[in-house]
Amino acid sequence: MYNPKSAIATEFIDNQEILDSLEYAQKNGNNRELIREILDKARECKGISHREAIVLLECEDAEYNKEIEDLAKKIKEKFYGNRIVIFAPLYLSNYCVNGCLYCPYHLKNETIRRKKLSQEEIEREVIALQDMGHKRLALETGEDPVNNPIEYVLESIKTIYSIKHKNGAIRRVNVNIAATSLENYKKLKDAGIGTYILFQETYNKDSYEKLHPTGPKHDYAHHTQAMDRAMEAGIDDVGIGVLFGLNSYRYDLVGLLMHAEHLEAVFGVGPHTISVPRVRSAEDINPDDFGNGISDALFAKIVAVIRIAVPYTGMIISTRESEQSRKNVLALGISQISGASCTSVGGYAEKEKAEDNTTQFEVMDNRPLDEVVQWLLNMGYVPSFCTACYRQNRTGDRFMSLVKSGQIANICPSNSLMTLKEYLEDYASEATKSIGEKVIAEQLELIPSEKIREKVRAWLEKIRGGERDFRV
Ligand code: SF4
Repeated sequence: MYNPKSAIATEFIDNQEILDSLEYAQKNGNNRELIREILDKARECKGISHREAIVLLECEDAEYNKEIEDLAKKIKEKFYGNRIVIFAPLYLSNYCVNGCLYCPYHLKNETIRRKKLSQEEIEREVIALQDMGHKRLALETGEDPVNNPIEYVLESIKTIYSIKHKNGAIRRVNVNIAATSLENYKKLKDAGIGTYILFQETYNKDSYEKLHPTGPKHDYAHHTQAMDRAMEAGIDDVGIGVLFGLNSYRYDLVGLLMHAEHLEAVFGVGPHTISVPRVRSAEDINPDDFGNGISDALFAKIVAVIRIAVPYTGMIISTRESEQSRKNVLALGISQISGASCTSVGGYAEKEKAEDNTTQFEVMDNRPLDEVVQWLLNMGYVPSFCTACYRQNRTGDRFMSLVKSGQIANICPSNSLMTLKEYLEDYASEATKSIGEKVIAEQLELIPSEKIREKVRAWLEKIRGGERDFRV
């Protein structure tokens, strides 16, 4: 029985409600009157339900599909402007006791080289990341209570925050580790993490159990209820996502939105971010084996529909996507991207080993960070390394109320420009710097308040003079 407020996974991700929604959408995908109603509601920028979202996804009418695309762009622009926040993943260890069929870190893979970074190796990785210009990381480890216990993750977070190399610093560490206990989430909260990220992979319980045949991750309820424990432990910002290509995209889109509705219903604030990864090739993994791959066009439509359904939630796209695919979806709703990612353990510091077989998946966008920054600038985006909200305690409902009220527009543009300026001063190539300076000058003039413009001009001058780390 569907109950978004329930604490039980199979009640807030109710299988029957998903099946009924899919049937409803099949019947109504070309019901012009209903689609008109949904789009009118969506235009208010307050979101739509999972059932309404799947109807939009099913719609085949070219005119309406254009309207869906335009609306997604408008919503993205309204809440997130042209800023794109940049981050990088940092793989700490590929030891794992789970049996996930889509991941080469699974326990039975005997050919992959197992590696866990020491604190000294983490320091080298962080320095390499800081030397590129990164300020925000997403920590990744396999699940292994012996090799990667929570103490190891906590110590690593401490190490990362402590490293100040030249003008560099990692200012926000997001954490993507396996579902864990309330007690461990409290420890992560105390360690000062940014977002806790955990992908559901698939919301379909039967498929989930088949895809995770062994290990603690097999427990659907433990995994699906993880965000409840994390939020109960005081972690304000959580990031959800599914791995598209494993199971039916229709089922998983509905499940994903129901999960967001559940968090909103219980905690008064939905997920901070939604990620949209697609299964990729890796050592002993062939994405075609799952038979649920989706085209780039469909993928873009899914991004647009999520943008419309949950207008306030940040959306993330990683280097699992090619440059072209990333370009396609940026305007439709993406607010964060990874750049110059290395998905192997220790690959940033030891470049020659970056392609060794500790890699979790094949990266489709291999460009260096400077190229990614320049690419974004050339397309009219403002690459941002901002972490100010997190460091000023604007997280959870405090962040969401800023987004909902539109007040974020008074904060983000200035911060993004200052972090871009820091990047240009410290890390950019001459070509990137020259485009970046032009973009900063243009964007500065678009800040409506003369008083804020003045302040930002003064801060930019200070950055030029060598000062760093402004938070507003
Ligand atoms: S997806 Fe995570 S839990 Fe599963 S095998 Fe890979 S690292 Fe382990």
